[in-house]
Amino acid sequence: MTKRQARPTTERQSARRASTETAVEHVPRRGKRKPGAQREADFVVIGAGSGGVAAARRAATLGARVVLVERDAIGGTCINRGCVPKKMLSYGASLAAILSGCLSHTGGKEDWSDAIVRVNAEMARLHVAYTHRLQEAGVELLRGDATVIAADQVQVGAETIRAKRILIATGARPRALPVPGGELACTSDDIFTWQSLPASLVVIGGGYVAVEQASILSRYGVKVEMLVRGERLLPRFDHEVADALAEALTAKGVRLHFNTGVTLLNQANGAIDVCYRQHGHGANSANGAVGGNHGNGKDRIQTVRAQAALAAIGRDPHWDGLGLEALGIARTQKGGIQVDRSLRTKVRSIHAIGDVIDGLHLTPVAGAQGRWLADRLFGAAATARISTWCQPRYFASRPSAAWA
Ligand SMILES: Cc1cc2nc3c(=O)[nH]c(=O)nc-3n(C[C@H](O)[C@H](O)[C@H](O)COP(=O)(O)OP(=O)(O)OC[C@H]3O[C@@H](n4cnc5c(N)ncnc54)[C@H](O)[C@@H]3O)c2cc1C
Repeated sequence: MTKRQARPTTERQSARRASTETAVEHVPRRGKRKPGAQREADFVVIGAGSGGVAAARRAATLGARVVLVERDAIGGTCINRGCVPKKMLSYGASLAAILSGCLSHTGGKEDWSDAIVRVNAEMARLHVAYTHRLQEAGVELLRGDATVIAADQVQVGAETIRAKRILIATGARPRALPVPGGELACTSDDIFTWQSLPASLVVIGGGYVAVEQASILSRYGVKVEMLVRGERLLPRFDHEVADALAEALTAKGVRLHFNTGVTLLNQANGAIDVCYRQHGHGANSANGAVGGNHGNGKDRIQTVRAQAALAAIGRDPHWDGLGLEALGIARTQKGGIQVDRSLRTKVRSIHAIGDVIDGLHLTPVAGAQGRWLADRLFGAAATARISTWCQPRYFASRPSAAWA
């Protein structure tokens, strides 16, 4: 299976259409705008993911005139490509296995194509619920690709919105695999559009997205091998957690290869060959993992063949095409938009939150940052301090979430 075979399902397309249509038809308080018109707002939020939705709703509730711009499905990564589909698929597989221990007739297996239909239905429900909640709060939802053209202006198609404050909440996308043939690998975004599963899969990466996908797909019957760059899984988690997960994955039949560096991907008769360098190649460890601390110091080039490959080697902030460089807004060494303790960029009127800045990249963090910022800009809590874990510097001293 290649990533081109993975197509969005009809349900997903119609869900997106449904939320798009509802949003465009409803323009609270102001009626429909002519294309090319200029409009005024207090707050333009770019990106209707966890952070943008939270900030927009809170600001509107506080009386600000808010325009929220989204180019894709409402809800961002969490609803469409992250937490929600992942949890539904994971719980489905686990519960089916648990039930089979109690009720013999269940067969103990969850069917992927059935599960994806339910995931899409839940996404559609959430799209509608989010749209309604935004409408209730008085947020104006605008569909399209936003570019910041001045410190107080955002362009969306032919429309220009002039605003006192602009918020960048554009999230991040999976990083491409930087080796020849890297484009053959799918990403976590693609998996939730799969109608059927490959028989075998190579997962490249050892961070939490890689571990979760390997765990979920192996429970749906896919034969999974993981190529991990470091000598253990989850480098930002406690050793005990990483070791327990390695053991659990191995028990599910996932083959783990540590200390590897992928060098090349090749298409081979409907399959994909993933070539990698195994550093300090040696005996298998007790839990069946290859290349742990048991190596003899020599590198070896190896190949693993599977029907599909998944690259889960980190995520890059959505920054391209936003026009921020021209305004002098900088990025950090890790790639996130540079902000101060108040989540403000170098341009005083422009702030940034969520996965597009450095820090802890989780839904509750993006949401808390959005609400905190809205309170600070439009509410009475102008002097409130943001929690330490919502600070972009929270992980400054820790390794980046890159290729683990
Ligand atoms: C596979 C996976 C599993 C995850 N699981 C969990 C979990 O279990 N728990 C948890 O807390 N977190 C989880 N996360 C992380 C969580 O999804 C993110 O931290 C969170 O969604 C970030 O929110 P955000 O608002 O910063 O960005 P996003 O939710 O990514 O939203 C950004 C939005 O901006 C839009 N956009 C981008 N550029 C433009 C533009 N120029 N114009 C208009 N719109 C634009 C995008 O289309 C997108 O909708 C997971 C992530 C992944 C990838």
